[in-house]
Amino acid sequence: MSASPKITLKPGREKSLQRRHPWVFSGAVERVTGSPDPGATVRVENADGHFLGWGAWSPSSQIRVRIWNWEEDESVDDEFFRKRLSAALQFRQAVLPDSQSNARRLVHGEADGLPGLIVDQYGEVLVLQCLSVGTDQWRDTLVGLLNELTECTAIYERSDAEVRKLEGLEPRRGLLSGTLPEPLQITEQGLTLEVDVEKGQKTGLYLDQRDNRERVRTLASGKRVLDAFCYTGGFTLAVLQGGAKSVTAIESSKPALALVEQHCRINGFEDRDITLVEADVFEHLRRLRDAVASFDLIILDPPKFAPTAKHAEKASRAYKDINLWAFRLLAPGGLLLTCSCSAGVGPELFRKVIGSAALDAGVEGRVIKVLGPAPDHAGALYFPEGEYLTGLLVRRT
Ligand code: SAH
Repeated sequence: MSASPKITLKPGREKSLQRRHPWVFSGAVERVTGSPDPGATVRVENADGHFLGWGAWSPSSQIRVRIWNWEEDESVDDEFFRKRLSAALQFRQAVLPDSQSNARRLVHGEADGLPGLIVDQYGEVLVLQCLSVGTDQWRDTLVGLLNELTECTAIYERSDAEVRKLEGLEPRRGLLSGTLPEPLQITEQGLTLEVDVEKGQKTGLYLDQRDNRERVRTLASGKRVLDAFCYTGGFTLAVLQGGAKSVTAIESSKPALALVEQHCRINGFEDRDITLVEADVFEHLRRLRDAVASFDLIILDPPKFAPTAKHAEKASRAYKDINLWAFRLLAPGGLLLTCSCSAGVGPELFRKVIGSAALDAGVEGRVIKVLGPAPDHAGALYFPEGEYLTGLLVRRT
């Protein structure tokens, strides 16, 4: 072990690691001993030479080390990854015991003690995302273990997220093992959804919104619903199943809208009152207002407007705009389910923004529920940066 490359921190810079926060930023590094390759396991020590953790070295990133483990005598090897993956699988069994869906997140990065690794399950297919150079190094091991520990018939790689650039990594996607079913279908609460793991957004579906889709299903009966930023129709299908009177779904992506149509067909909703609109939500909400449209339930689930706190101000203006128009379109007594998946806009700021949108729209509202991601996306106590999805269910009074 003495031969392991070593990262020595500047005096006092070990505090966050002692609180089990798994990132070492470049500014905290005093010295590198040895010449670790990108992704290599390094020993992290404080200025006095006391062991802090083993982590993955990432020389291109501002996050210079991501900690794998905190035990000096535990090696980072196949056995380590077997233990972490097994724990992640067990956690899902515990938090989604009688799951009504065969699609779920199996590994949620830092929250599962596997920084930079995402694994999503779509039925018998797993989608792997290696977002850090550390996980990239261990990719073959991870694929072998996932084949061994799960009953998957295929593993597809979607390591094509923008954040890989920060790690000095090229985007990569492709089949790693098995064959993909054509089409790949999953079930959620009795609904059938097709998932495009090769070209779809993220790894194919927004699994984090599962519980919120379930919530709107129970609220939709007899309602005129607007689903803005509908992607492949997760919320649209849920409200149709819940007995919505009509649904207007807006989305800018043509392939996503084509899947909404397909989903309505395969789930037997083709005779329902459904309007699919290919448009920019910002513009279309204004058009609906001009047409004096009114809705009883509005869902706003926009893309990430603020990846980091740096973008919070601009993002807040965008959130305020769509929520202002949503409030204007909401009938008295109507419900607004409004979300942000911006890590740069926390729950407190988001609530303020929604409050000021209501004020400008001249309406009042009560917060029925504060929303978050489904439990397979549960964050770690020590890692608040992992939180990104927040939402409010507001009733216009
Ligand atoms: N509610 C969806 C996920 C929405 S993700 C679900 O549960 O599955 C956000 C969606 O907004 C993406 O599909 C993206 O293509 C779309 N989008 C992004 N900007 C848009 C805009 N300005 N107007 C309309 N759609 C937009």
